[in-house]
Parts: sequence; C-alpha cells; structure tokens
Amino acid sequence: MVYVGRFAPTPSGPLHFGSLVTALASWLDARHHQGRWLLRIEDLDPPREEPGASERILRTLEALGLTWDGPVIYQSQRSEAYAQALDQLQQKGEVYPCSCTRKELQGSRIYPGYCRQGPCHPDQPLAWRLAVDPQLTATWTDRIQGFQQWPLQAAGDVVVKRKDGLWAYQLAVTVDDLAFDVTHLVRGIDLLDSTPWQMNLLRYLAPDAADFDYAHLPVIVNAEGQKLSKQNLAPALDTRQSSELIYRALVALNQPVPPECRQLPCEELLDLAVRHWQAEAIPGKTHIYEESLPPCTSTASSWS
Ligand code: GLU
Repeated sequence: MVYVGRFAPTPSGPLHFGSLVTALASWLDARHHQGRWLLRIEDLDPPREEPGASERILRTLEALGLTWDGPVIYQSQRSEAYAQALDQLQQKGEVYPCSCTRKELQGSRIYPGYCRQGPCHPDQPLAWRLAVDPQLTATWTDRIQGFQQWPLQAAGDVVVKRKDGLWAYQLAVTVDDLAFDVTHLVRGIDLLDSTPWQMNLLRYLAPDAADFDYAHLPVIVNAEGQKLSKQNLAPALDTRQSSELIYRALVALNQPVPPECRQLPCEELLDLAVRHWQAEAIPGKTHIYEESLPPCTSTASSWS
C-alpha cells in the first residue's frame, strides 16, 4: 500500500500534550504501514504565529524521536501553488468574490450567500468564497469516527482567500495534501467539520484524485473540557521526559502498552509502539480528559 501521512502544526506556540497525541498517532500509523511521514508548518497567518515556534516544534519532534521524511514544507513558501489553485477555481466559476464584513454576518451560523450573485460592495476589499454544491453530501468512512455524512448545504460557502490577502486554511491544506501526494490524514476531531469542504475542494481541483483516508482523533481536554491549547495555557512539552510523554500519549490512544515500558529508552518504546500499533483501538469519542491519564512519574533529571 502507498502511504503518505503528514503532521501539520500551526506555529502559534510550542507543542503541548494534545499536539503530541496527534503527532504520535499520525507518525505511528505511517511507520506501521511503512509509509512516509511529512512535516508541514502551517505558517499562513503571521499575526497568529509566535516567533521561534516553528523551530521549537521541529526540535521537540526530533527530541521525541518523531522524525519526518524529506524537507519540512512551509506554507508561507507555497503562495504560488495557492494562487494557481485559486486561478483554476476562478476559471471554472467554483469561487466568487465576497465583500461581506464580520458585522454583516453577525448572527449567521453559515454564510447566507449574500454575494453569490456578485459582491454586494465591489469597491470594498474582497475575499474569495467556495461556492459549495448544495446538492452534495460529503460521505466517508472515518477510520476512528465511523461513517460520516455531511450535507454541504449545512456547511455553507467557505472562504478560500481572505480579504487581507492571506490564504485560508481550507485551500492551503487541500492544495498541499494533493501536491505532496498525501494519502492518509490522521488529525484531531476538531477538524472533522472542515473535511466536507476539503473533499469538495479536492473534487474541484483534481476530479480524478482518490479521496484521502481520514482518521479523526479524540482531542485531549483539560478538567474544564477545553481542548489543550496555548490559549488555555497548556504547558510546552518537556522533552527530558520523552519516554514518559510517549507512554502517556500511547495510553491516551488506548494502545495496550505495559506500564513498565515507560522505563525504556524513547527509541525502543517507539519501535515497540510501531510494531504493536492498532489504530482501531483508538476510541471513537470526541475528547479525552488529560487528568484521566497516568501522570508523568519520573523527574526530569532521571532521563538526562
Ligand atoms: N494546522 C492545523 C492545526 O494545527 C492542522 C491541519 C490539518 O491537520 O489538517 O490544527
């Protein structure tokens, strides 16, 4: 089987335990299938980025033994490919310019389509929106969450290029997954509702391409039920505790890893985890409480 997976962090801060679980699941799934694993830094939105975060992410992954194949892909260097894709969508009439402001859209859960027949204020800054086909329903069998059925009408027309000229996540991710021959997406369930748009974009950009294989993982939440994130002050990973962290992430992924394995050197633990990887053991839930996982027991110094 041809397998190309990827991990695609946004460099808005250092990796935390939630991002480690995603990175590890995607890495193990790729390695278990003798696949390639790409690393893509999603640095599309400079104001959201933290200086030095990309470099820290790379060093953390290396320290944990999660090595990637080929050069790191930086979305900030891929504008030309996104412009080409937008051009292709424009030529086919699959996107339209939209002048709507946040204020005008207040209270609308999905885009009401005001600019579908032409921008309401053509002289104002314009975004580009995908005209989703309201007749279509995106269906796929997610390897973790099971059969999914999402009518595109309920998703609405999504922005593919922002008014401020920045490329939107949905376009960039689809263009890149396609361009780098990605076959398998293993990522957090918080992106499940982006999948219908990405499947629709894939259809428009490459009508003959096979759908990606999707696996959406439960996300790790704090005691208040919030996804671990920089905003919720999730601490950066302490890579001196690499085996403890990997062990804990394996428990989160419901892998039957014996507790004594946390004593192994990180490389050995990862080798075992690749061999015994069972993606089907991951629970089809939306979230896992971090506090339900075993604490890191060793002190940092015992691993140095
Ligand atoms: N950059 C996204 C994030 O950090 C992930 C994108 C993806 O995996 O499709 O949440």
